[in-house]
Amino acid sequence: MLHIGIDDTDSLDGGCTTWLITEIISELSDLDLIAPPRLVRLNPNVPWKTRGNGALALVFGKGIGSKKKIGSLEDSEISIYPNYKDRRFDKKDILERVVKIVKANSKQDSQPGIVISDTYLPEGLYWQGVRSLVMQEDLEPILSNCLTFGMRGSRGLIGAACALAWSGYYSKVGELNFTWELIGYREKSMWGTLRDISSESVSKVSELKEVFSCNDQDGKVAMVPNSPCPVLWGFRGTNDKILIDNFHKLGPEKPSRWLLYQTNQATDDHFCISDILDITDFTSVWVDVSVSSKAEIIKGGHRFFRVKDSEGNEVKCAVFEPSKNLRAVVDKLEVGDEITVCGSISESTVNIEKLKIINLVPRYSKPPNPVCVCGKRTHSSGKNSKYRCKSCGKKYDRPVLIPKPPNLDLNWFEPPASSRRHLTKPIDLMR
Ligand SMILES: [Zn+2]
Repeated sequence: MLHIGIDDTDSLDGGCTTWLITEIISELSDLDLIAPPRLVRLNPNVPWKTRGNGALALVFGKGIGSKKKIGSLEDSEISIYPNYKDRRFDKKDILERVVKIVKANSKQDSQPGIVISDTYLPEGLYWQGVRSLVMQEDLEPILSNCLTFGMRGSRGLIGAACALAWSGYYSKVGELNFTWELIGYREKSMWGTLRDISSESVSKVSELKEVFSCNDQDGKVAMVPNSPCPVLWGFRGTNDKILIDNFHKLGPEKPSRWLLYQTNQATDDHFCISDILDITDFTSVWVDVSVSSKAEIIKGGHRFFRVKDSEGNEVKCAVFEPSKNLRAVVDKLEVGDEITVCGSISESTVNIEKLKIINLVPRYSKPPNPVCVCGKRTHSSGKNSKYRCKSCGKKYDRPVLIPKPPNLDLNWFEPPASSRRHLTKPIDLMR
């Protein structure tokens, strides 16, 4: 078998490693793809991440029997062979062909890496790459049996190796081991121009079963990027056939190429589930806590509040403006409420990606201050002490607090699809 991993060819100014994959598949059309390409999102918190921090992996063998179409280029189809046998390849020759494409297409400030291997790499490398940091020295023993190529610092070797370590079948979180993304690409002459995809066509496909993150609840389109990259849209779902059968409904602009990817998006793989708060920077936590301070609204509409775990460890949580309605949920939280927070750690703060309300403390509202017999309104003379009339000095018992509904459900809450992280599982998929 021949496995090719590739990462870090794009940069913040656009470009897209997935488009490069279509070029590589076209170049290597004399080989048989035996599985859809894998789009592997890695730790979203690493300080040197590329946009979306996604790496890619391809696997080739000797196909047997019938093929299955998973994509299309301008002048040819892309197919996989579900049945195959092992085949030896001239890895050196193939690396040279891939390097040529990467050299011609990678961006100036990217650090591309290519790894070619006969086998999948050890799964533990994937878990390290999605949950914490992988250093180049961690890779050396693993890459000793691989052919590699790197440019301008070769940072991409890390992602490329991690992508080869993700098989997609051993998720540790929940039932969902992988999802699909069908990516449509624009004709080269259109790159950088406005994409012509109607919100009506997006709404239509968003109503299909087993698709997700097409648009926000308010109708804002989430599946069409704004960057000047070659991607026209990314159509995500848990059933590949539904994506392939329905993407043609998107328009009016049509893709000049399209390709189906198996991904670890929406798997929650990046979260480390823990009983106590572990606030190591660049990791992501999933932990049950209680609210220890009311949310504070700061400039820009962001929210900050504090939570503590069962051992009393306390941490600040942030819910930023793009989280939209999630902020209204946080505003209603009271000290003592029990919640699950899922988020990434940065500068010792949990940036919340979703949360679950487990238990709410009783809420009360304070009735108006009692009116004195003399007609004046009384005033509290201190916490837990009686109310007093300033005019005649008469004292009154504190009025009984009125229970009020929390206006919050015991449920999961999340930001809109357009500001959700690739790896974070939408609540719809958690049921
Ligand atoms: Zn009075």
